[in-house]
Amino acid sequence: MTASAPITQDVLTIPRKSPEGGRRNLVGLTRPQLRDALLEIGVTEKQVKMRVNQVWQWIYQWGVRDFDAMTNLAKGFRAQLAENFVIEIPEMVSRQVSNDGTRKYLVRIAGGHEVEVVYIPETDRGTLCISSQVGCTLTCSFCHTGTQKLVRNLSAGEIVGQVMMARDDLGEWPEPGAPKDETRLLSNIVLMGMGEPLYNFDNVRDAMKIAMDREGISLSRRRITLSTSGVVPEIAKTAEEIGCLLAVSFHATTDEVRDKLVPINKKWNIEALLNALREYPRLSNSERITFEYVMLKDVNDSDADARRLVSLIKGIPAKINLIPFNEWPGAPYVRSDQDRIKAFADIIYHAGYASPIRRPRGEDIMAACGQLKSATERARKSRKAIEADAGL
Ligand code: SAH
Ligand code: SF4
Repeated sequence: MTASAPITQDVLTIPRKSPEGGRRNLVGLTRPQLRDALLEIGVTEKQVKMRVNQVWQWIYQWGVRDFDAMTNLAKGFRAQLAENFVIEIPEMVSRQVSNDGTRKYLVRIAGGHEVEVVYIPETDRGTLCISSQVGCTLTCSFCHTGTQKLVRNLSAGEIVGQVMMARDDLGEWPEPGAPKDETRLLSNIVLMGMGEPLYNFDNVRDAMKIAMDREGISLSRRRITLSTSGVVPEIAKTAEEIGCLLAVSFHATTDEVRDKLVPINKKWNIEALLNALREYPRLSNSERITFEYVMLKDVNDSDADARRLVSLIKGIPAKINLIPFNEWPGAPYVRSDQDRIKAFADIIYHAGYASPIRRPRGEDIMAACGQLKSATERARKSRKAIEADAGL
């Protein structure tokens, strides 16, 4: 399928296949968990290390889903694996491709819940924006995901499974045995989809460890960015246990305004957040912290805000990513004018910080930050409308 024209698909209603006979899914198990699973089915202590490596490579390096294709394993062992396990990833329910090449996927996870995943191609990279939860327990007033009632944590398999699904769609798994190729269509991951990743820490950590593993998907920790609204006690753990880059949804320069926009601020205020960020270990200046700042007209976009922002973050190697607000139906805010955003960016830039204005991508398919929920609902509504029109 080419990316030259927008291709809109209605939401399909394919029932999700559940693992038959309670077979365990291997996707999302860490190496030690996979080891235990293989020991449980009778692999010997002597052989288990080699078997873990072999199965791991088939799943994460070559993208194989069928045990029978694991040709360096004895037929009997392959059958034994198939009796006990499945290799299952979330199911793609629909895909839309934007004029600009952005792809938005709707994927279905266990229980029939749906989350969205967005692939953004750029000249020097391809970024996959993945989700960590269905909905979000936090209630940031400008974010549509935060208005969604239902919340469930995704499992590690469902998180890394989003990456595997996108590699399937991009046709990016190498032929088994092919030499390692470092040029990638999917070269970066951002945890900026639905959910607060630091409220699902263990699963996010395990999934990202799998994505970073050198014998598998093998993405560098510097190519993974986790965005948090400011769950302060988990920030140091992110550096220690995942080691990825960090983005913070800052969005305001006074506690009064931040309390309203990002209510977690009432628990951990700007000062507590900045202290945690000052301690975030970095190996080089290229590992700056990204401050995300959504531009809301007459709420947080004044020159005084820009100057306050600069003085607050003094001493923190940072880049400020200005996000023009993506409006959604019924949103209580409007996007700042372009001139205002530019003036705000200039003040930050002149203080010595990079201040890119995020170019909205995939607007024609509503794939932008904070719009994910509305897009799903709209698709459902349109299907209903179609059925009503057809007298169904
Ligand atoms: N929960 C995490 C990650 C997901 S949100 C967090 O809040 O950081 C990813 C980014 O999109 C955050 O910076 C969030 O504040 C921003 N965002 C949410 N809704 C938005 C909207 N309607 N317009 C622009 N940015 C939005
Ligand atoms: Fe949750 Fe992030 Fe949206 Fe806030 S901005 S409601 S933390 S997804």
